[in-house]
Amino acid sequence: MAKILFRALASLLLASGVAFAAGPPPTPTPDHHDRKPDDVFRVQPLRGGVYALYGRGGNVGFFVGPDAVVVVDSEFKDIAPGIVGRIRSVTDRPIKYLVNTHHHGDHVGGNEVFKPFAVIIAQDNVRKRMLDSPQVILRDYPKELEEAKKAGNAEDVQFLENAIAWAQKVKVDEIAAPMVTFDSELRIHVGGETIEVWHTPPAHTDGDSVVYFAKANVVHMGDLFFHDMVPFVDVASGGSVMGYATAIDKVVARVPPDVIVIPGHGEVTDLKGLKGARQFIADVLDAAAAAKKAGRTKQEFLASVDLPAYKGYDGYKDRFQGACAAAYDEVP
Ligand SMILES: [Zn+2]
Repeated sequence: MAKILFRALASLLLASGVAFAAGPPPTPTPDHHDRKPDDVFRVQPLRGGVYALYGRGGNVGFFVGPDAVVVVDSEFKDIAPGIVGRIRSVTDRPIKYLVNTHHHGDHVGGNEVFKPFAVIIAQDNVRKRMLDSPQVILRDYPKELEEAKKAGNAEDVQFLENAIAWAQKVKVDEIAAPMVTFDSELRIHVGGETIEVWHTPPAHTDGDSVVYFAKANVVHMGDLFFHDMVPFVDVASGGSVMGYATAIDKVVARVPPDVIVIPGHGEVTDLKGLKGARQFIADVLDAAAAAKKAGRTKQEFLASVDLPAYKGYDGYKDRFQGACAAAYDEVP
């Protein structure tokens, strides 16, 4: 990850476990991933056998079919047994498939728990990034650890030390990466439902997929959608602000207007909610383009950029700058 981004993104990285695969035990962090204790493991029935399950990291979705359960994302390792337990409280049918929307630790950290009984499926780049993560950590984190120590940031130091210790001892074949991967699209057929997995590059990362439950008409957006929050664009993992906009547009064009939308983070919503996130991206890109046109440097732009309409969004204080910086780099 680019050094310059690290300061601004540190708190998010702590929670999202960027570059974490089978990762070290995550530490609870004071940011948007935290929910009130009574709000962890909340199950929300949606439509056609599809449910949303809120945890501490990325939202889980699952479909209960006649002979199999299909789960989207696995949360963190420490709470994945609780996730499985909650699904079990809804159905005793076997969990046969787990789809990962991308490689971040708050979406794949629980893969190890699912691996003994579920086929784990994701886009090719998710597997690649998970298997590469120890190398990336050993390459990038020691320097960042030095800086965190100098800055006296105890939380970052702890996170980085845990990550390095994990990367030093993990064996690649211990990483619970997807065993079935695909290039652009894949369909899972369970009972009368078709679960469509669409790769939408490059957006949040270069391995993103959205999962569309066709008959139920429910879509799980992965981290292509932070509902009423500033999104994180992981440029170091091949993400792109312009790509993010394009990816949301592609999904919007493919789903019916009455689709139910599960975001990667935040509450379940509808197409209008998703379009709100799309508007945020458009506004950031417009602001960056206007600044570039006016001849302002990136530093000048970042020092002055302000979109008051989004001040109430989680992440406006930290992730907003990162999104703006990435937008500035990308706009013509
Ligand atoms: Zn993510």
